[in-house]
Amino acid sequence: MHELSLTQRIVRIVCDAAQKENARRVLKVTLAVGEDSGIVPDCVQTYYDLLSDGTAAQGALIEANTVCATLYCESCKMEFERARFSFSCPDCGAEGTPTGKGNECYVESIELET
Ligand SMILES: [Zn+2]
Repeated sequence: MHELSLTQRIVRIVCDAAQKENARRVLKVTLAVGEDSGIVPDCVQTYYDLLSDGTAAQGALIEANTVCATLYCESCKMEFERARFSFSCPDCGAEGTPTGKGNECYVESIELET
């Protein structure tokens, strides 16, 4: 159900963009999807097809760029990409704290045919 409300927002954004640019159709919508966001791009596409039907946004291909989750190491003062099943800093081995990056999901770009 996560994807449904998200997709409603995406369709609205794409509709607005298509109308503003006077687009004939929307070709592609690229999303930035955090690896911890729990968003399944295939689900988004399914909902998108349903929700955008009959609107200016219909027919677009949904593409997703994965955003890696990052952690911050207090002692090294640096941010690093989280390895699978590990929270350790690659330099000192201390446990990093989540930065919040990797939870996001937003529209990165929209490709229109004008
Ligand atoms: Zn460190």
